[in-house]
Amino acid sequence: MVDIASNLKIICDKLVAASAKRAPEFQHFQPKLVAVSKFHPSEAVIKAYEAGHRHFGENYVNELSEKANNAEILEKCKEIKWHFIGHLQRGNVNRLLKVENLYLVETVDSEKIAAALDNAWPKFRKSDAKLKVMVQVNTSREEAKSGCEVENASSMVKYVLEKCSNLEFTGLMTIGEYGYDVSQGPNPDFLTLVECKKKVCEELGLNSKRVDLSMGMSTDFEHAIELGSSLVRVGTAIFGDRPKKSD
Ligand SMILES: *Cc1c(COP(=O)(O)O)cnc(C)c1O
Repeated sequence: MVDIASNLKIICDKLVAASAKRAPEFQHFQPKLVAVSKFHPSEAVIKAYEAGHRHFGENYVNELSEKANNAEILEKCKEIKWHFIGHLQRGNVNRLLKVENLYLVETVDSEKIAAALDNAWPKFRKSDAKLKVMVQVNTSREEAKSGCEVENASSMVKYVLEKCSNLEFTGLMTIGEYGYDVSQGPNPDFLTLVECKKKVCEELGLNSKRVDLSMGMSTDFEHAIELGSSLVRVGTAIFGDRPKKSD
């Protein structure tokens, strides 16, 4: 049996310890933990919520929509904050924006998808609040990975800032190559995202303290934090191995 509450406690302790090891330039913020619940049942989300956790991430619009609208979750998890961390297609935008308690879309990777979110958000928002978004960058340049090209990150961010008045740009996100061996030195994909942020901030005159970096998962979140991550997305280390989708 996986003990979700005690796993969460372990991850949070490790997060704090890794934060203390950061360079002074990163000491002004506490990284946030997003619990990635994909393929796990609603009960797992509720357990983590009842242990005090609030930020959750999902990859698939269908699954997110089912969980977020699950009666028990709606009743017991009123302050839940959902992060969408999967690849987003235009045809799914309305369904995503309808999600109750949607907090942040981490995976905006084209002007087309930014424009679709920007156009649709006024139909769904319940207050004047803008929709928080991050721009996903394909740091590992793998064809199978989503994200805009590193070279296009600034122009993507500029597009969101200047053309999307219903969106609030909050930072950059990357997945990076899986299974990188940290004994080889700092993860180059994480370094690329840190560099990318520097460049975006310089080129667009943004305060770098107000731009988040979402990078790091179960096996490398501490490493990512040491390199400046402010949002880590951890699934397996909290909820255990993922059941197969068809189960
Ligand atoms: C599944 C997933 C995670 C979590 O991965 P774990 O290895 O289980 O921690 C994080 N980010 C994204 C984008 C994912 O798809």
